[in-house]
Amino acid sequence: MVNSRISPLIIGVDVGATKTTAALVDEQANILNLNRKSTPTESSKILVRNTIELIEEIFNVSKACVKNILGIGLGVAGLMDFQKGIVVFSPNLPLRNLPLRDIVHHHFNVPTFLDNDANVAAMGEKFFGVGREVSNLVCLTIGTGIGGGMIIDDRVYRGAGGSAAEIGHMVIDPDGPPCGCGNRGCLEAFASGTAIARRAREVVNEESIIFRLIRGKIEDISAEVVVHAARKGDSLAKRILREVGEALGVGVANVINIFNPEMIIIGGGMAEIEELLTTARAEISRRALAPNLKMVKIVGASLRTNAGVLGAAALVLYELGKLT
Ligand SMILES: [Zn+2]
Repeated sequence: MVNSRISPLIIGVDVGATKTTAALVDEQANILNLNRKSTPTESSKILVRNTIELIEEIFNVSKACVKNILGIGLGVAGLMDFQKGIVVFSPNLPLRNLPLRDIVHHHFNVPTFLDNDANVAAMGEKFFGVGREVSNLVCLTIGTGIGGGMIIDDRVYRGAGGSAAEIGHMVIDPDGPPCGCGNRGCLEAFASGTAIARRAREVVNEESIIFRLIRGKIEDISAEVVVHAARKGDSLAKRILREVGEALGVGVANVINIFNPEMIIIGGGMAEIEELLTTARAEISRRALAPNLKMVKIVGASLRTNAGVLGAAALVLYELGKLT
């Protein structure tokens, strides 16, 4: 029962490629209630219904009243038109030009905000996480792809149309491998989980521990398999991780040189691979300009599993001017 609380509450929703999570959060980032379901990918209509049901269940279970809710924040993977509240395109979800913000707003009649998952992650770290003490930070989420979010002078930087900070699509080698965006040699095509698996499939041989781990089924190679083989001492797997770490370091050094941030935050599944980060740090030290390098701290994300919903809650507080 939370209806007796005086503190205003927020609903944060993370619409991910596989799971959708909704949470009731207070202004201190305490999660009071959390509800999670698979994200339906058959149609946008079913996805919207699923999202609304998750939020309704939060209201029902927590007995929170709509009048106690400051707002609903939605973080979705993909390209957003922030001003219009529209999901323009999502690579893994059936969403195209969907006015999701207004649909949710009309249903619950509370202030509703929509942003992409990478901006939301940056806001979560800035207002509730490891970035609280800094004014300029760049947050990278490295998983199947690479998402980027930027805070400049304590403000989220969205660019002219809402799609700034696409750090994953910074070209680091014009002749590099093809990227999902249609370009070639993007950071994401080198340093994401998908890129690690693809590179291993290209170069694996029968002597490698990778080959044994997948019993010769090349299509079973994943980033996890490569990491596992590297930790067992496999030289091919170690080389792949070293190359990926170097590519990541090149990308991050570019970001450091351009934005002179106080902090680079690295989150997502790939951030757990220590070997990658060690190589990336060495590459960054070689490439970043000395004054910029001296000022920047490179740290792991602090919000982890609930980063999506906490970031979506931070989005609401930020847009309502309750966070500075
Ligand atoms: Zn790309």
